[in-house]
Amino acid sequence: MRAVRLEAIGAMALREVATPVAGPGEVLVRVLAAGICGSDRHMVKGEYPTGLPVALGHEFCGLVEAVGDGVAGFAGGELVTVDPNIACGSCPACRNGRPNLCDKLLAIGVFRDGGFAEHVAVPARQAFVLPAGLDPVHGAFSEPLACCLHGLDVARIVPGSSVAVLGGGVIGLLMVQLARLAGAGEIVLVTRQATRRALALELGATVAIDPGAGDVVEAVRQLNGRGVDVVLECAGVPETLQQGLGMLARGGVLVLFGVTPAGVAVPVRPFALLVNELRLEAAYLNPHTHARAAAMVASGALELDRLVTHVIGLEAVAG
Ligand code: NAP
Repeated sequence: MRAVRLEAIGAMALREVATPVAGPGEVLVRVLAAGICGSDRHMVKGEYPTGLPVALGHEFCGLVEAVGDGVAGFAGGELVTVDPNIACGSCPACRNGRPNLCDKLLAIGVFRDGGFAEHVAVPARQAFVLPAGLDPVHGAFSEPLACCLHGLDVARIVPGSSVAVLGGGVIGLLMVQLARLAGAGEIVLVTRQATRRALALELGATVAIDPGAGDVVEAVRQLNGRGVDVVLECAGVPETLQQGLGMLARGGVLVLFGVTPAGVAVPVRPFALLVNELRLEAAYLNPHTHARAAAMVASGALELDRLVTHVIGLEAVAG
């Protein structure tokens, strides 16, 4: 089969490799659609750790083609989305119900071959059945959506909250939609590209701001005179973390979601955090949210087609 492998930092290649087999407890998935995550770009640039060589692709959807020994619940032919994050189940974090912080977390498409390939073998417990006939491209959104749902859980948006989303990539545009569904009153999207700002307004943002047009912190604070209750940082650049803290209302929370390269330091003013009781939280991966995400994708509650910018074949992924 063909697979796009990251062979060294900065070096991806389309290779002919052996088709995996479904081992005990596993299913073999024929990949129908896979998404390219901002994190894949971080991995290619060496800004996020991976195994090497490895077939990237942790957001994918496909058909179960073979079922390994000891697997119950799959007959073959099911359309599935895969939770790529395999937790050990026995380390202290897992035993505390926090599998995303597992000491031995082994992510498919990061440390183990993933979905930029024609087939992937995955533990059956990581596969979640989607309705037959669902667009597999929509199915591939389940993984980033599951991460965003965790971000929303951490943010604790309540009806009427004011929310700023920083970064208008796929993640930011999913967050805008989730904030709307959660009942946020004011939803501000900050991103540089005009097309993304226009799309965000159609997807539920009430205001869209170009950070290059002036002082973005002041622009957000002026909207309601006090700042926002929640900032969802979805750009992964140092300035958005600093700006996000600056635009919080007293008692607000900034949820750090974007990946900044390891080693990047950002100055913060602890005094402002203290006297305003600002909270800085992080939301990492998708603990306990993949099934909810799959159900949301299946329900059609989200506008997903508008988030697809390109459809390309495996041969173009490495290019
Ligand atoms: P992406 O496509 O790279 O989107 C990030 C967007 O941020 C860019 O499209 C860019 O849009 C915008 N941006 C860059 N600089 C900005 C600035 N100064 N102010 C405002 N916006 C700025 O990535 P993605 O797939 O949407 O993912 C977003 C981030 O979340 C990435 O860092 C990704 O690694 C991370 N992530 C985290 C998790 C998690 O579990 N925490 C899960 C998935 C992804 P413009 O050009 O329009 O400004």
